[in-house]
Amino acid sequence: MSVKLFFIVALPFVLCQCSFSQTTDKKTITHMDNTDNKHKAYSRTDTSKVNLSEEEWKKILPEEVYYIGRMKGTERPWTSKFEKFDEAGTYFCAACGNPLFKSDTKFESGCGWPSFYEPVSKSSIIYTPDHSHGMERTEVQCGRCKAHLGHVFNDGPPPTGLRYCINGVILDFAKATEAEKKYKEDKKPG
Ligand SMILES: [Zn+2]
Repeated sequence: MSVKLFFIVALPFVLCQCSFSQTTDKKTITHMDNTDNKHKAYSRTDTSKVNLSEEEWKKILPEEVYYIGRMKGTERPWTSKFEKFDEAGTYFCAACGNPLFKSDTKFESGCGWPSFYEPVSKSSIIYTPDHSHGMERTEVQCGRCKAHLGHVFNDGPPPTGLRYCINGVILDFAKATEAEKKYKEDKKPG
């Protein structure tokens, strides 16, 4: 594009943006905790169960979230951005927004998937025996929408001894606020 053309095409737009900036500049945009583009059933505060048909899920979920969450798929190991990720915050179900894990229960398991030793609460997870692929495993599902999350194993670290091996695709992350971080630091012994 020539410089002249840029001014003709883009300049009015730039000027227009400036005139609006005074009313919108206070908004802070943070990545990875944006819920604006989510469907109606998605909520990080509503605890009521979500019961949608597979057809409805297929319509509203991104393809890879649908594949993992509803088709019980498994993402390839070492592919999740959350596998090596240690920011303080909360992990939510990517299908419905249910809080699942806190970052302080996350640990490096070396298995290739994000791993946690304890869920946010007892009701945040559903446990189901899984006999598929000739293995005896325990499947973990979202307590609110029953999305497939991954499996839980008995070889985790203390205090629970559990390893929740979770597909990163089915997780959303929101950073802890400064207030939450300070509260945690104050509570630390010593
Ligand atoms: Zn869910």
